[in-house]
Amino acid sequence: MGRRGRPRKYTRKYRCPECGSNWCVKNGKSRDGKQRYLCKECGRNFTIGAERLKKPEFLKEQALKMIAKGSSISAVSRILNISPWTISTWIQREGKRLLKEHEKKQKL
Ligand SMILES: [Zn+2]
Repeated sequence: MGRRGRPRKYTRKYRCPECGSNWCVKNGKSRDGKQRYLCKECGRNFTIGAERLKKPEFLKEQALKMIAKGSSISAVSRILNISPWTISTWIQREGKRLLKEHEKKQKL
């Protein structure tokens, strides 16, 4: 999909916390009444200010440990109160890292 021809109604004030795109549209309200936005670039839903709330590293480690032990994403999401999206992003990132480390070991 090309980036040209975006209608002007797309806000330029807010950026997607996931991919940094400002191609975001209003997408209703969250349960606590905050304005929600949808990133048209990657499909991420977010509320304003959410990008400042970085999840602590220990939560990430805890989540990945639970996944490694066989817990499902939805179970970890419920227990740690983290969005499934965040968890799957962590898994993707960590997965790539682990794969690289694995490759390194293979070459040695
Ligand atoms: Zn995005």
